[in-house]
Amino acid sequence: MGETNWAGNQTFTAERIVRPRDLGEVRETVARAVAVKALGSRHCFNDIADCPGGVLIDLSALGTEVVVDPESATVTVPAAARYGDVAVQVHAAGFALANLASLPHCTVAGTVATATHGSGRRNQSLASAVSGLELVTADGEVKTYSRHDGVVVGLGALGVVTRLTLDLVPAFDLRQDVFDGLPWESVYEHFDEIQDAGYSVSLFTNWARDEVDQVWVKGPGRPGADFFGAKAADGPRHPAHAAGIPADNCTRQLGVAGPWHERIPHFRLDFTPSIGNELQTEYFVPVRHAVAAMEALRAIGDRLAPVLLTSEIRTVAGDELWLSPFHGGDRVALHFTWLPDEDAVRALLPVMEDRLAPFDVRPHWGKLFHRAADYPKLGDFRALATELDPDGKFRGPFVRRHVFGEG
Ligand SMILES: Cc1cc2nc3c(=O)[nH]c(=O)nc-3n(C[C@H](O)[C@H](O)[C@H](O)COP(=O)(O)OP(=O)(O)OC[C@H]3O[C@@H](n4cnc5c(N)ncnc54)[C@H](O)[C@@H]3O)c2cc1C
Repeated sequence: MGETNWAGNQTFTAERIVRPRDLGEVRETVARAVAVKALGSRHCFNDIADCPGGVLIDLSALGTEVVVDPESATVTVPAAARYGDVAVQVHAAGFALANLASLPHCTVAGTVATATHGSGRRNQSLASAVSGLELVTADGEVKTYSRHDGVVVGLGALGVVTRLTLDLVPAFDLRQDVFDGLPWESVYEHFDEIQDAGYSVSLFTNWARDEVDQVWVKGPGRPGADFFGAKAADGPRHPAHAAGIPADNCTRQLGVAGPWHERIPHFRLDFTPSIGNELQTEYFVPVRHAVAAMEALRAIGDRLAPVLLTSEIRTVAGDELWLSPFHGGDRVALHFTWLPDEDAVRALLPVMEDRLAPFDVRPHWGKLFHRAADYPKLGDFRALATELDPDGKFRGPFVRRHVFGEG
């Protein structure tokens, strides 16, 4: 078929991609297929979305209608809607989504299926905003679920999500201030205060330099000019500024206030996000282990830096979603934007995971990792997947390996 993911490091081995025009066609395709899986905007870096020899379902022809309900403060969206497009319509109705990822380009269904997150001490993952969803299961039936049913972070393994309802909050403005050169000592001593300094805070580093390269603070107020020893940037920055990448595709900085959806993502919807020619990995550890985990990575900083474009440190609030890496408590997110050298990255992953093993580490479902984590609700998820899909038509190699422990 020759189709690849966004990063170009995965070539799908499905037999074909189909674009059903209505719910009936989705149901028929699913019911007939032996192996089938929904495909979002292809922004994952591993084989989670692949379906060898089977059918990939692209839902982008299923409509674009976004319905805001001011009474319940919710929005109902088609599965393939992109966050950036939903955000514009939600904002026009006077509402906001509580958080967004660094890029607004991904589909809502694909994003929540992997528990994609943004940043912010008090902000849960984007999956936590899902109050309900509609799912086409293996036999072609349409079922509806609430956030309490274990289906939201579904990894595409439970069926095809066709519609989702998301919680909203009142619209708000944010400013974005960037600081250069945060001493590591400040990070270690004041980690909680730094993470509390804005609605969303991100640190960027390559783990090998003496200081953290940049801090991005997105909040309602102006942070002090001296941010725990870091200095206000004298111009717009790209997260990989230290690698010489210009800030053209980044959202507005330098303290200019603007609507939430034009400040929370790092990258603008009308540009390629991040760098484009890259790979990504991300690990999550409980916030109480933040400093120890950062020290463990700095100890191998000279091995990480040659393969890195940049690395981002954020905090994500805990939730109760079954396969969410944030299940059970707040976690610090340690993200890596790699050069596109997959062999070098794959050689590093077990080393990193060994270093982070003492800290109850869990990897991002949608990025490159070596070993999956154990989850308290993994057994329940397996039972639900087996009940909804007894023949395993939605499973694919990723889910077989990392959820069912096969092969
Ligand atoms: C440049 C860049 C920046 C990123 N920034 C962040 C970030 O800030 N935070 C973060 O957490 N992640 C981030 N990611 C990762 C990204 O958010 C996830 O990979 C996300 O899952 C991608 O969504 P997608 O629509 O592309 O899904 P895909 O990659 O197409 O699919 C992902 C999974 O979702 C399933 N799926 C898709 N649609 C459906 C559906 N309708 N029904 C059922 N299952 C479905 C697929 O089967 C698959 O299992 C980033 C990725 C890139 C490339």
